[in-house]
Amino acid sequence: MGEAAFQMSSDATPIEPPAPAPGATAPGTTAPGTPAPDATASGTTVPTILVVEDDPEVRTFVTATLDAHGYAHQSASTGREAIALAATSAPDIILLDLGLPDIDGIEVVRAIRAWSVVPIIVVSARSEDADKIGALDAGADDYVCKPFSVGELLARIRATERHLAIATAARAGAPAAASPSNAVAAGAPGATPFSASAAPAPAVFRDGGLVIDYSAGVVTLDGAEVHLTPIEYRLLCLLSRNVGKVLTHRYILDQVWGARDDSAAAGGAGRPAGQAGDLATLRVYMGSLRKKIERDTAHPRYIQTHVGVGYRMMSV
Ligand code: CA
Repeated sequence: MGEAAFQMSSDATPIEPPAPAPGATAPGTTAPGTPAPDATASGTTVPTILVVEDDPEVRTFVTATLDAHGYAHQSASTGREAIALAATSAPDIILLDLGLPDIDGIEVVRAIRAWSVVPIIVVSARSEDADKIGALDAGADDYVCKPFSVGELLARIRATERHLAIATAARAGAPAAASPSNAVAAGAPGATPFSASAAPAPAVFRDGGLVIDYSAGVVTLDGAEVHLTPIEYRLLCLLSRNVGKVLTHRYILDQVWGARDDSAAAGGAGRPAGQAGDLATLRVYMGSLRKKIERDTAHPRYIQTHVGVGYRMMSV
């Protein structure tokens, strides 16, 4: 892992920093004496923002802007570092550059979307419509073109914070209803698998003999490595991040394959048009995933089918 800056607010945030990388620099860390982000009047803490940017000058500019406005932040300079930090420290919002030195930012969006609905705001010099469409279809929530003004960036962050507040209220069972296309949790209609401000997502899933190392992307069953295709792995990550919750077919399709694009998907996993085709594809992949992680596919332990609704991963 390269440079990884991490700043924690002094009030008890549940977010744990990743293990510091050897020789890590801390371009985003605030100077001593800078006021730490504090709880707001409503009792909620300010969001932690993961800044993914390989250009040191832009990264410093963005993190200094966040500092000046009281936001907590972390930073990453490569796509892989961003994915690892997103998995291990559960940021509330991600600002993502697309042109990264190792993997394209679009792939970073897809990877994170396999298990998380954390808001992702793309901040990119690519200003063509096709770039914006590609990023949004891959799962980004917003798109800011470089060069951008501080005012615009902060306004986008504030808009995202409002969405976070609505989602948090929904999760807490407040009247603000959850989107029906989202995950449904048995007995808790307001619950969604929203990660923001939830307990930090563990980096490793262990249950029965099944172990998923999200950072390394490695799955083992009873100590033996399970070789999954990228789609199978995304399915497993999504389900295992939401143990006990029924995830609807529609939600799984959106999360794993991306929002539907009937006009011949541009690269990546194409998503067939039409509900029947979608469900058939999902069933095929779910079947192949079960063959690899279930000891008895006739009596699956990990993944339950809810006929006509979706799937649920269970703790065994
Ligand atoms: Ca860049």
